[in-house]
Amino acid sequence: MRTFQIAVLPGDGVGVEVTDEALKILRVVQTRMKSVRFEMAPYAVGADAYRSGQDPLPESTLAACREADAVLLGAMGLPDVRWPDGKEIAPQLDLREQLDLYRGVRPIRLYHEADTPLKRYRAGEIDLVIVRESTEGLFSTRLAQRPHGADEVLDNLKVTRAGSERVFRAAFRIAGQRRKRLSLIDKANVLPSMVFFREVFDAIACEFPDVETDRLYVDCAALFLLQRPQVFDVLVTENMFGDILSDLAAGLVGGMGMAPSADIGDDCAVFQPAHGSAPDIAGRGIANPVAMILSVAMMLDWLDHAETTVAAEHLRAAVERVLANPNQRTADLGGKLSTSEMGNLIAAELEQTWHA
Ligand code: ATP
Repeated sequence: MRTFQIAVLPGDGVGVEVTDEALKILRVVQTRMKSVRFEMAPYAVGADAYRSGQDPLPESTLAACREADAVLLGAMGLPDVRWPDGKEIAPQLDLREQLDLYRGVRPIRLYHEADTPLKRYRAGEIDLVIVRESTEGLFSTRLAQRPHGADEVLDNLKVTRAGSERVFRAAFRIAGQRRKRLSLIDKANVLPSMVFFREVFDAIACEFPDVETDRLYVDCAALFLLQRPQVFDVLVTENMFGDILSDLAAGLVGGMGMAPSADIGDDCAVFQPAHGSAPDIAGRGIANPVAMILSVAMMLDWLDHAETTVAAEHLRAAVERVLANPNQRTADLGGKLSTSEMGNLIAAELEQTWHA
């Protein structure tokens, strides 16, 4: 029997609501496992924890995440809960840095033509992955103190050879398992750091001769994502560009509720939807749990056990079948289903179609 320890961090806002649905799905998966057991340990972290006088990410929770086989995270941060210096409480960023989760993997897939604001795209015709460098870039000085009373504030965009090489290699490997096409997204026409980023990319590209590459400036990538998303297979980019392009790409397939994500390092991994805590809809039971449930599928793949890999395939297929009916949608996609009704549909589909 193989036991996987899963640290569960529901966090804030809709994070809590979609995590309930993820756990519902994992309970179904558990009933189909023969030699795998999941042990889920919940931890209260995030802005809400800070508001009630606790540490938003205690050292003990961080240690538990480090020890766990995987971390399942809902969402963190609330706009009205801030550190004394005005920055938002964002333990999800601390987790990325502390656990050295250097690649943010964000698959974007269109499940039904009714979900995209673009014309003429059918299910599966938008199918790409954004790989976001997650430990450097323009986020690297986010913890710096703003000089009191300053009239000039600088943020640094940090690019290192080692940090770039590892994320590029990861992106090439992902592309190698897909349509074998990798686009570097940078701003090498303006920023010296991005010229260096591109040079490192070019050197790593020589290690992967069977993956076709191209190089695009980030502004042009934004345009092409909107005009011709079908040309993209895998995109790799800097931290801030990846942050922005992920939301744009999620918009192509129905919004943040459809965009799963995994933050992966060499030793640890955190699986969470690409969205935040969505305070505008939190507490009403209407959040779309699909992004979170697809993040669970990514986690099952990453655990890399014969049974969890099969479970991931079954889960993705169940999501696909549920979404094939455009009437089965939450409010973000014009539907009437609540968060738990959507979770129930996917759980029931999984149970009905996957016989152990
Ligand atoms: P962060 O910066 O923390 O990632 P954000 O500022 O990008 O967060 P989100 O919390 O992701 O903001 O919300 C962006 C928009 O997407 C909001 O209108 C929100 O209601 C919507 N949204 C986010 N998650 C979901 C979801 N699961 N279901 C439905 N709508 C969602």
